[in-house]
Amino acid sequence: RMPTLGDVARYHAQERPDAVAFAFEGRETRFEELDRHTNQVARALIAEGLKPGDRIAYVGKNSDLYFEMLLGAAKAGVVTAPIGWRLAPAEIAYIVADTEAKMVFVGPELVDHVGEVSKLLDGPRPPVVAMEAGGPADLPLFTAWRDAQDDADPATPLKSSDVVLQLYTSGTTGKPKGAMLTHDNLLAMRKAAAEREPMDWNVWGPDDVSLVAMPVAHIGGTGWGLVGLFNGAKGVVAREFDPTKVLDFIEHDRVSKMFLVPAALQIVVRLPRARQIDYSRLSYILYGAAPIPLDLLRESIEVFGCGFVQQYGMTETTGTVVYLPPEDHDPAGNKRMRSAGLPMPGVELRILDEAGGVLPANTVGEIAVRSGSNMAGYWKLDAATAATIDADGWLRTGDAGYLDEDGYLFIHDRVKDMIVSGGENIYPAEVESAVYGHPHVAEVAVIGVPDDKWGEAVKAVVAPRPGVTPDPDDIIAFARTRIAHFKAPKSVDFVEALPRNASGKILRRQLREPYWVGRE
Ligand code: ATP
Ligand code: MG
Repeated sequence: RMPTLGDVARYHAQERPDAVAFAFEGRETRFEELDRHTNQVARALIAEGLKPGDRIAYVGKNSDLYFEMLLGAAKAGVVTAPIGWRLAPAEIAYIVADTEAKMVFVGPELVDHVGEVSKLLDGPRPPVVAMEAGGPADLPLFTAWRDAQDDADPATPLKSSDVVLQLYTSGTTGKPKGAMLTHDNLLAMRKAAAEREPMDWNVWGPDDVSLVAMPVAHIGGTGWGLVGLFNGAKGVVAREFDPTKVLDFIEHDRVSKMFLVPAALQIVVRLPRARQIDYSRLSYILYGAAPIPLDLLRESIEVFGCGFVQQYGMTETTGTVVYLPPEDHDPAGNKRMRSAGLPMPGVELRILDEAGGVLPANTVGEIAVRSGSNMAGYWKLDAATAATIDADGWLRTGDAGYLDEDGYLFIHDRVKDMIVSGGENIYPAEVESAVYGHPHVAEVAVIGVPDDKWGEAVKAVVAPRPGVTPDPDDIIAFARTRIAHFKAPKSVDFVEALPRNASGKILRRQLREPYWVGRE
């Protein structure tokens, strides 16, 4: 029998029962407890009448109990769908309804919204369990609900090809889609970590501590949390991303590996205290999920002095499929610092033209991925699934990029975000990276706006650094010293802050909208 997610708890409970699996706000759960608790969760779900293939939804901030719930549900064959707590009640209700969840588990921050969300649900109103005390008295409490069960393994027969996690895409380009991930998909991450031959950076030891600081509703939270768990590390779970707490965790909890999106990294690195901390235990920072400006990467390398590993991937590929190892992070200006890196073991990459033909090296096209971590499909979206994964298992990412002659992937951006100006293709991320280096710029997004002469013209939307009033012409002139003139912005608008989703991605479609009203 191929391993399933629950086997991870069983395995570590055997191998190192007393090691800490998760630490959360003063509570520590040892592997032996994790195994028993997840047996109880599985039994509690079965007692509620849930069957293999049924779904449960989780709406809350990060918590160690979320991971217990996910692994426990996995042991019962039940699929967990974590939902972003920052979404509006109507958006939460949309996703809860989409999951067809038989039960909903809510964090304390969401307990107040339960009434609101359930009013917005058209269909059945599933029973709700509160993850923590302090909410309405009529909701059962997760730990009590769990502890009412026997802790023997329910030994539910499962297949490793069964779906176990339904993770919604970030909704950067449209409505979030439910990517169905199987035990095999998740465990492919473990296999990749085990095949560590060419990947010295990916060696984990019994002293490793991983920080789970990104939201669990996204692959950068749940996926990263599971990578640490697979490797038997202690997972320090942060309730939410708080930049000063990230530094506290590094200083006091001996964090050795963490994943941050570029937007989060930028906030941490700019804290004055970030320059005063001893990072000798930090082996690497994994970053990715959005393009990183080169200046931010250089600044981060200088401040942390640890290894850096970029990851490229998406919800549909269970996260990382491409990585840029520490040795390619040479700030002395090697061109690979601009690359997303090499395929993980077992991952194949292709660059496709619009007709699906395979393009040669150094030619930009759509990135396609084939890997054991490619999702089973989108939940209830058969047409979208068919348009994304072909019969041979190649998944079209929607991202544009090219492979160089050494097989390094250079990502240019989403195909949809490409700006066509005067017949030239321009990728916003490259322009953003150039503008970002201007000393008055805190954040920047680049979009195409309608232009009678050029078709589209490049516009930079800039959030200035505190206390400065940048000159648009100066920013344009600065960009022109770093990239070709035709790529440099033709105009600059200023905003206080850029619109981002919970994954830290800039919502370019929201920025574009006002300029394109009535034209698209
Ligand atoms: P939706 O699919 O709902 O529009 P989304 O694509 O933002 O949202 P995710 O699955 O969280 O949802 O993100 C995957 C995308 O993130 C990739 O397709 C790519 O555009 C971007 N991305 C991931 N890693 C990197 C990276 N290292 N560099 C640049 N972009 C990246
Ligand atoms: Mg996507």
